[in-house]
Amino acid sequence: MEAGMRSTAMKKAILISGGPVRIAEDFILPFLPSRSTAGPGAGAVAIVLTFDGARVKKEVSREKGEFELVQKGEGYSLLRKGEPFIEDVEIRPTLFHSPEQAFFNVGSACIYDCKFCVSRKLDSRITKNLDPDRIVSMILDASEREDFRAVALTSAVVDSPSETVLRMAYVVAKVREALDPRIPIGVEPYIGEFEDIDRLKAAGADEIKINIETFDREIFRKVCGKLDFDRILRSIKYAVQIFGVGKVCSNIIVGLGETDDNVLEGVEFLARMGCVATLRPLKINEMNRRPLEEALGHPLEPMSPERIVRLAEEHRMLLELYHLSTLSFRTMCHACTCCDVVPFRDL
Ligand code: SF4
Repeated sequence: MEAGMRSTAMKKAILISGGPVRIAEDFILPFLPSRSTAGPGAGAVAIVLTFDGARVKKEVSREKGEFELVQKGEGYSLLRKGEPFIEDVEIRPTLFHSPEQAFFNVGSACIYDCKFCVSRKLDSRITKNLDPDRIVSMILDASEREDFRAVALTSAVVDSPSETVLRMAYVVAKVREALDPRIPIGVEPYIGEFEDIDRLKAAGADEIKINIETFDREIFRKVCGKLDFDRILRSIKYAVQIFGVGKVCSNIIVGLGETDDNVLEGVEFLARMGCVATLRPLKINEMNRRPLEEALGHPLEPMSPERIVRLAEEHRMLLELYHLSTLSFRTMCHACTCCDVVPFRDL
């Protein structure tokens, strides 16, 4: 791999694993910050920064930060611990949650209790509690914007997996009916039964993400005790039959105490089925640290940037071996790239 690309990936990994970005009291952001209700930065006020072809979403703070964004002529640069870190940085707008994607959370309340997830712990003023018709109309409004490229939907499991999927499929069908058929739609459901996958495809979804969360069964039991590991794997396998190879992805969270070998075993297991893993560095915050440490029985260590880059390199090699790529995705995290070092896109 080219040295410049590796050094950019390493800087991105330092940002992903590091603390917030401080912005001065009088600093006026050129775009509204994003406040996500799902994903690794849920609950935090964040902005998207781009540099050397990479982009990253970072929590911002007016009080303190490991990094500091400073004005540099017409643009910006980034300091780390007071020292120059990245010379030229741009601030990019999000559409909804992600740059170029209208990415909505169909429901934040959850019947499950995965210890890393903060969705269900967020205040209702943050979760916004949008009903499906309101989401449809916000997506259609967003589709008028020049930077609109894709639609994506995620959801916590509000009542039951199948009822949640019905709500998601309703939004997909309405949006699909109204939008240019070339606009891709991605969905990230928890699957109750195979028919849920059929429903989402029939409604017009093009890509699907079904998260295994961790490939370490013992960690899975401790952290996602109410979910069914084997059912998720069967759902992924079935989803590949319905959506196609390279149209199904799955999060493996990294940083829960699993080994690299276990992570890569998971990547390869999924790849053999035609599914492209997303290696998602664990975001530890004040809402999930205690429940996670209690469940796991050990203190959490922050992910090192070296581990993030090393795993991304191995991830890429495994995908190549199975003729897969993250480039086959046009929605959700592989297309967004804000939270991970993404093989084929960042290195
Ligand atoms: S990478 Fe995924 S979770 Fe992160 S901002 Fe983008 S779409 Fe959201």
